[in-house]
Amino acid sequence: MPQTLESAVKAPLPLVALSEDEILFRDSVRQFANDSIRPRVREMDEKGVFEPAIIEQFFQLGLMGIEIPEAYGGAGGTFFESILAVEEVSKVDPSAGVIVDVQNTLVNNALMRWTTDDQKKRYLPKMAANTVGAYALSEAASGSDAFALQTRAELKGSEYTLNGQKLWITNAKEAGIFILLATIDPAAGYKGITAFIVEKGMPGFTVGKKEDKLGIRASSTCELILEDCRVPKANVLGEPGKGYKIAIETLNEGRIGIGAQMVGLATGAWEHALRYAQERKQFGKSISEFQGVQFQLAQMATEIEAARMLVYNAARMKDARMNFVKEAAMVKLFASQVAERVASLAVEIYGGYGFTKDYPVEKYYRDAKIGKIYEGTSNMQLQTIAKILLGGK
Ligand SMILES: Cc1cc2nc3c(=O)[nH]c(=O)nc-3n(C[C@H](O)[C@H](O)[C@H](O)COP(=O)(O)OP(=O)(O)OC[C@H]3O[C@@H](n4cnc5c(N)ncnc54)[C@H](O)[C@@H]3O)c2cc1C
Repeated sequence: MPQTLESAVKAPLPLVALSEDEILFRDSVRQFANDSIRPRVREMDEKGVFEPAIIEQFFQLGLMGIEIPEAYGGAGGTFFESILAVEEVSKVDPSAGVIVDVQNTLVNNALMRWTTDDQKKRYLPKMAANTVGAYALSEAASGSDAFALQTRAELKGSEYTLNGQKLWITNAKEAGIFILLATIDPAAGYKGITAFIVEKGMPGFTVGKKEDKLGIRASSTCELILEDCRVPKANVLGEPGKGYKIAIETLNEGRIGIGAQMVGLATGAWEHALRYAQERKQFGKSISEFQGVQFQLAQMATEIEAARMLVYNAARMKDARMNFVKEAAMVKLFASQVAERVASLAVEIYGGYGFTKDYPVEKYYRDAKIGKIYEGTSNMQLQTIAKILLGGK
């Protein structure tokens, strides 16, 4: 039956449709990433150090507190806007993208959702103004099996004493606040897991060795050492024993963020490949005139668009307060596959030049690999999706 104009107008908007505010926001982040981050990307990657001035600019632009309510000094925006910011920044540098991502989709999200009023007053203004956050769940012996963690928290009077080590913690070098998971009762299994807000200066807390990585080299990834680290009881996030719920629900949102990072990365690699294909001449014409190369570019663009729509849909679902657990796992699984394929093809389109550090695509290729690993490996995403499909939930 033909659709009437009236029903077409009433139909939900297509996923590619952004509001005017979202377009303005996206374009301002895009311009900042191009003007202020792009010139420093190569040096930061080589040194394995993120430029502090860029983090300051992130704060000035409101990109570190996108969803924090204005009453606490944040931008009062949506989760979708956080996703747009991660995508745009990651187009230029996925290391910069993950800083914005962890801050907004993991740390701020957890703080906004689970804190008491007093904790909100103490922490949200800092997160919006000047304090980088990190999220510390993984340990040497507990990655995919995250709730087998061994970091121990014991209540002594008005303080908990934390002992143990965390591994692989993104933003650890720059962070002032850590959402850290420990167990108050190892015998209780996952029901003993408790989330704490740990401040960098708390006694007994040290940021340890920084990893020398394949990709996202400018993003710091460090171990954390807790030696009789004293954390006030008032710094429990949520309730004692509810940390597993906080961790799971926070990571659901985080996975959409990693999807956005991967879509941004793939788009960045594709844009370079397109430009290069139009400039590079072989057999007397630009290589973009060969159908073989055209088809590669078309395939890449199609996959990126599919991944982006998964990301946008899951983010819109989150803002609409719908259940998005399956969709978030699909986003992360698929977007990281697309990023790896697209970045790999981008290297091939550059030919031998693509294999050198003189051109930007080898970095996208290295950076893509992490998408299948952190915030739950691809197998863990498949497990989540399968469990929901088979359980009919
Ligand atoms: C750069 C980087 C940044 C990170 N940032 C953070 C951070 O900020 N905070 C944080 O807490 N953690 C962080 N991590 C840790 C990350 O989340 C873990 O590395 C990841 O969850 C995988 O855990 P693992 O490394 O112990 O691998 P393992 O769990 O040992 O997995 C190894 C392999 O076995 C497979 N596998 C394991 N169990 C199963 C199963 N049941 N079924 C099928 N396959 C399985 C996995 O898919 C994987 O291929 C980061 C890691 C890296 C590398």
